[in-house]
Amino acid sequence: MKSLSVHLTDTCNNSCIFCVVGSHTGTPEKVNKKMVYEFLAANKDKGYEAVNIHGGEPTIVPEFLDILAMIKENGYKAISVQTNGRTLRDIEFAKKAVENGASLFVVSLHGNTPELHDYFTSVPNSFEEAVEGIKNAVKLGIKVRTNTCVCQQNLEQLVDIVNYSMDLGVSHVNISNLHTAGNCLKNFGLVVPRIQDAIPYVEKAVEACVRRNVKVTLEGYTSCVLGDKSRYMIDWEENKFKLLYKSFIMNDYSEFMSTQTRTKSSSCKTCKEFEMCSGVYNEYAAAYGFEEFKEIV
Ligand code: SF4
Repeated sequence: MKSLSVHLTDTCNNSCIFCVVGSHTGTPEKVNKKMVYEFLAANKDKGYEAVNIHGGEPTIVPEFLDILAMIKENGYKAISVQTNGRTLRDIEFAKKAVENGASLFVVSLHGNTPELHDYFTSVPNSFEEAVEGIKNAVKLGIKVRTNTCVCQQNLEQLVDIVNYSMDLGVSHVNISNLHTAGNCLKNFGLVVPRIQDAIPYVEKAVEACVRRNVKVTLEGYTSCVLGDKSRYMIDWEENKFKLLYKSFIMNDYSEFMSTQTRTKSSSCKTCKEFEMCSGVYNEYAAAYGFEEFKEIV
């Protein structure tokens, strides 16, 4: 499916220690509504079915609800909102977002307890608020996908986290390898797990979702480390994004990710997944090399 993607802001009401954007809780930026409107209008009859809104935290910008309405008016079929979920604790706000066109909330949930989740977000009560937000969205009958980033500190809880998400009634669980940019790069030694340590827990978390018949996807990993679980990897060939990032338009975000943020080794050339594989995050490969990534023959 071809989608548009709009980065609304760098600011956030959380300050995650692994945030790829390096989001800050400082002064909100002014969103250029005119530019967003022109981007939506210019692409409306070009086969883009959905629009993905993200940040930072997109729901805290004053223009958020108007922008949802703008997307709906332009006739796009689906709108997904990537959020930390905290503003959705206000059910009236969540209702308004749904009325204005939001059809999927992708909510970050990195722990199954306040201690663990709030440790990552650096904001007390962010866990309770996110959980309230998820419950409200589920109550409103809108689809919710949680996204859990796999860190050194939540590896052992990964199965409990995905079970907790499913207990809340979400319809899809996404598990992400850390993208080693922004705050994640600053805190690399603290948060980034070795792939070989993470994979056994990722596998168990996938199995927990499969057992409960809940859709599960994996993001940022490579086939060579996932083995038979590689069938749960997000297929970026099928999920093409055209991105508006501030005043800059990127025509193919997945191509940018694989050519600019990820790398392959010389032995990858003989791997049967070479063409399909996006590779390993540059900073991870620089720190640990490729010994964990063995070509598939
Ligand atoms: S191309 Fe390289 S990183 Fe990708 S799956 Fe093959 S060995 Fe792994």
